[in-house]
Amino acid sequence: MLTKDQKIRYSRQILSPSIGESGQERLSEVKVLQIGAGGLGSPFAMYLVAAGIKELTIVDNDVVSLSNLQRQVLYSERQVGKPKVDIARDTLLGLNSTVKINAHKEYVDENSIQKYLKDQDFIVDCSDNLNTKFLVNQVSVEHNIKSVIAGIKDFYGQIITVNPKKSACYQCVFSPSTETPNISADPLPVIGVTPGILGTLEALEVIKTALGLPNLENKLLMVNLLDLSFNVVEIEKADDCICS
Ligand SMILES: [Zn+2]
Repeated sequence: MLTKDQKIRYSRQILSPSIGESGQERLSEVKVLQIGAGGLGSPFAMYLVAAGIKELTIVDNDVVSLSNLQRQVLYSERQVGKPKVDIARDTLLGLNSTVKINAHKEYVDENSIQKYLKDQDFIVDCSDNLNTKFLVNQVSVEHNIKSVIAGIKDFYGQIITVNPKKSACYQCVFSPSTETPNISADPLPVIGVTPGILGTLEALEVIKTALGLPNLENKLLMVNLLDLSFNVVEIEKADDCICS
């Protein structure tokens, strides 16, 4: 049952025939693990927390730098030098104090990610590197937790939702051996709007998947913001993939 405050706070989305009070109740039970709190992670966390999930756990090891502010809209000038997860937690609680926010300053790798997986409904990749995207996909498949993975560069982005056992995974489409690992220290070009849109789409995917609405399972959405094209490519589970 929604409280009186919840009915007011979420009244505009409850009006949606695709959500309603029952959909809002379902959203209020959703737990999400968010990997990365940068350009994708900022709008992702803000829209998801605003929409009223149960719990968001954010893991990120960075501090805010001046060059982040062009796209990482959770942060402001006076927070340069401070840990992102601490600021993200404060800002998100200010937005919606009814959502439980767990914030951990830690580098995400194969070992450290394990302790955050328990009871999660979704793992969402908001990282800036391919190694982490493959790792999120791998733990998603291994632990049968749904995931959303997005990537961006310049004016371009792509996003996929993985429902392990049912749909194709990130590695069905991208191979760790053929993709060039982003180990170079050279930053990629990026216009801030690109992670703004793709991070927002990641929040949309979590919401729609949780509600059983049409989503990006077995589909890769490719976004080109130069010519404003959004192309959905149908994808299939690969027989020799880790998910099969
Ligand atoms: Zn696969």
